[in-house]
Amino acid sequence: MANDGRKPTTNDAGIPVSSDEHSLTVGPDGPILLHDHYLIEQMAQFNRERIPERQPHAKGGGAFGRFEVTHDVSEYTKAAVFQPGAKTDVLLRFSSVAGERGSPDTWRDPRGFAVKFYTPEGNYDMVGNNTPVFFIRDPMKFQHFIRSQKRRADSNLRDHDMQWDFWTLSPESAHQVAWLMGDRGIPRTWRHMNGYSSHTYMWVNEKGHKFWVKYHFKTNQGIEFLTQEEADRLAGTDGDYHTRDLYEAIEGGDHPSWTLHMQIMPFDDAETYRFNPFDLTKVWPHGDYPLVEVGQLTLDRNPTDYHTEMEQAAFEPNSLVPGIGASPDRMLLARVFSYADAHRARLGVNYKQIPVNAPQSPVHSYSKDGAMRIQNVSDPVYAPNSKGGPQADGERYPESATWQSDGDMVRAAYTPRKDDDDFVQAQALVRKVMDDEQRDRLVATVSGHLKGGVTQPVLERAFEYWRNIDQEVGDRIAEAVGEKKPAGAPGD
Ligand code: NDP
Repeated sequence: MANDGRKPTTNDAGIPVSSDEHSLTVGPDGPILLHDHYLIEQMAQFNRERIPERQPHAKGGGAFGRFEVTHDVSEYTKAAVFQPGAKTDVLLRFSSVAGERGSPDTWRDPRGFAVKFYTPEGNYDMVGNNTPVFFIRDPMKFQHFIRSQKRRADSNLRDHDMQWDFWTLSPESAHQVAWLMGDRGIPRTWRHMNGYSSHTYMWVNEKGHKFWVKYHFKTNQGIEFLTQEEADRLAGTDGDYHTRDLYEAIEGGDHPSWTLHMQIMPFDDAETYRFNPFDLTKVWPHGDYPLVEVGQLTLDRNPTDYHTEMEQAAFEPNSLVPGIGASPDRMLLARVFSYADAHRARLGVNYKQIPVNAPQSPVHSYSKDGAMRIQNVSDPVYAPNSKGGPQADGERYPESATWQSDGDMVRAAYTPRKDDDDFVQAQALVRKVMDDEQRDRLVATVSGHLKGGVTQPVLERAFEYWRNIDQEVGDRIAEAVGEKKPAGAPGD
């Protein structure tokens, strides 16, 4: 058989081409002809293969699977995805934050844990992390924070000095930094870490009753971590270690899963709780709001085309379905703008028509035209209309996930409450949750990091920062780094 039974190569217009190997030339030794449109298509397409990488969370990978509700939480939310027995297709993308698309998977960094639920009421996205808190609580600082984690303007190098400069001038970062420098700062694999919404969201039940909630996806594989030494070695020998692990596990039929638990706070508690429950630098202690089990998330299908299914996947915390709403968490309120904006910039205005982002439920929107629109728009193209076009149903879908708010317009911190202390939960983590061995590794990790180019006065502020978390741990870090005590200080 002439072509060995294989499909004939075509160009992008489906026209069969005559060679995969030779360009069109004037005689075997002559110049290439401009009208070799197939060669030109190949070169032009290649030049345009890369799209802008995500600003943070550029390096990542993920898989498809399903979410199954195992426990009845209908008293808290009417969302179809969380009703008893519901099974929903999902996409889960893991990522590191600061690195670029080719950076090693094992750098110390929080990990993204972004879930898209393809629900019957539209796509529901939970764009979480493997940590329950974050470095800052006001979005005004977010851009600056990420820049401090990325690269310097002059040398294009990452720089511990600017990282600690930012952190020590932002004491609200202490809880997240303590978490990051602890064992969970480098998960062994994406399968061996938890995922958290971190933000507080609102759930609304069928009767319109509202609750504040936090999501905890606990790994069923068990928590495992890499030591700094293991991670450094892997960064040099297998930069795609986490990507490979997930892909190979799923290919081998070892399907990772997570159990979703919620913390649920009665709506009225928020006003009087001892600290601001919408502050992203704080967890809700389990003793106050115990975990309530909801269901199982399982990954069982690898992507077949990384670009179309992962690189072009767009998660956005504004994609909230009936029964789920936002909260007064400022970071969340900013993210509900900035994620969709980032997708428009990176993928184009019609990014929701890319199959991985398209909902399984019908779309009846009035969005029209724009670059790369591929679904037909039909008349009428405006609302209100008397021509039978879609009409909002405020009775069936009321704006119920709301809260009352008033006051002058100000630029100010959250109103302080009794336990609104930047260090208290970092203290709990270091003193109560970590054991002696974990604290030893914490001291080694932080002092190693500080020795990596942190200068005065940032260094002195870093010692103070750690002494505020725990005096002894701070002293040990200062000693390991070689703190120079001022002349006449005790011990001189
Ligand atoms: P609990 O004793 O009820 O919970 C402690 C939590 O810490 C558990 O969720 C545990 O996760 C987690 N944990 C264990 N080791 C580490 C580590 N090395 N790094 C990060 N987390 C770890 O206490 P509280 O709820 O009162 O919280 C105390 C402190 O625990 C908090 O200040 C916070 O730093 C940390 N924490 C709290 C969480 C929360 O939502 N309340 C969630 C995660 C951490 P697991 O059960 O999976 O082992």
